[in-house]
Amino acid sequence: MNDRIVIFIKNNLEQFAELISMIKEDAPFVIVYISFDDLISDKYRTILKETSPAQLYFGVDPSFYTAMKEKLTRYIRSIFQLPFSHFIYIHQDPEFMHEPHFILGKSRAFYFSQQYEYQHQARYFIIHQLQLFENAITSTRLSEYIADSFKEVVYSEILEKKNKEIQRLYNQLEQKNKLDYLTNLYNRGALFNFLEKERKRTLRALWRLNDVDSTTMANRIPDIMLVYENKPQGILINHFGIYSILMIDIDNFKSVNDKYGHLVGDQVLKALGDLILHKNLLREIDIAGRFGGEEFIIILPETNAHNACKPALRLAEKFKRLTFPDNKEEPFSISLSIGISEYHPNDKTNDDIIHRADKALYYAKKHCKGTVVIYENVFSLPN
Ligand code: GH3
Ligand code: MG
Ligand code: MG
Repeated sequence: MNDRIVIFIKNNLEQFAELISMIKEDAPFVIVYISFDDLISDKYRTILKETSPAQLYFGVDPSFYTAMKEKLTRYIRSIFQLPFSHFIYIHQDPEFMHEPHFILGKSRAFYFSQQYEYQHQARYFIIHQLQLFENAITSTRLSEYIADSFKEVVYSEILEKKNKEIQRLYNQLEQKNKLDYLTNLYNRGALFNFLEKERKRTLRALWRLNDVDSTTMANRIPDIMLVYENKPQGILINHFGIYSILMIDIDNFKSVNDKYGHLVGDQVLKALGDLILHKNLLREIDIAGRFGGEEFIIILPETNAHNACKPALRLAEKFKRLTFPDNKEEPFSISLSIGISEYHPNDKTNDDIIHRADKALYYAKKHCKGTVVIYENVFSLPN
């Protein structure tokens, strides 16, 4: 395969053919000179095709090229399948002797006169011009390549930024899809997912608890003591392999809506959401969601029902102290009833613990609204 071929189309350049042919010996190009008719004959077509040049230059007389331009371009495309190709225009006007070349787009034109007397000079002149031509093309290619690479870098940076933005918006959307629009707590769907995760996590913890090898634990205790200065309160099974839920219901909420209107009712729901989300009320790992209407569930991981009572009382107490504005009468306050139940290893699904917490809530509603009731204290557990 030849890197570069220069084809001089003889038409109108016959008088230069001999001069050009001298270059052949040590030129950095393969030079072919040929008439246009020969060029498009089948014989040359095959020969030229087999040379498969990487770069191709055509030396033409400008007037001839103007007349044959379309035909020549079509021919070159069909045979070489190169994007195309560069033209060297050879001019006969002696006026250009001292200013022999310039760039026409990607083509370079150079001129020499037939009165050029010294053939040695003519030869070196042509080689030199071709070399300059070659350099110009190479440097154009190089700058195009650099520009392209630079574009790619810019594009990849833009793309990366866009991807990050898309990912950020997607995460935001995904997070929003999990939230209840009014209270900003988790919605029912998300709440059930978290409940299921917590149930499975607790089950694994229970299995591990059963598998505990007391000597291994004893070996690890000194390390743990280094990390925790204060020994945690309570025994292991009060915290490990257990979780509780609070089922919260706003008392007499229907009458709030009836008396003050739904907008005030919404305000109350939002205030409860804000209170639950307030950072001092619950632990970071606790999960709160709107179960529906004016009912809420809070999942308290690693907490038994007895300990769950503490945040429940704290919430009920703080909520009771909130007052809601009323234009006509005195500001009013509202109470919460809360039912609590803890996970039981016999639970098949989370419906079981929800059902127990609901029963405890119902017990509070029936006997004394505004209180916290632990299911396990009031009803006996199934065996
Ligand atoms: P109890 O003390 O027994 O819980 O009585 P209650 O009135 O709170 O309970 P009930 O189930 O009779 O009524 C619940 C009310 O909650 C009825 C419904 O209109 C209202 N509610 C549910 N969702 C919303 C909401 O998004 N906004 C408003 N403003 N009210 C709601
Ligand atoms: Mg209700
Ligand atoms: Mg209610």
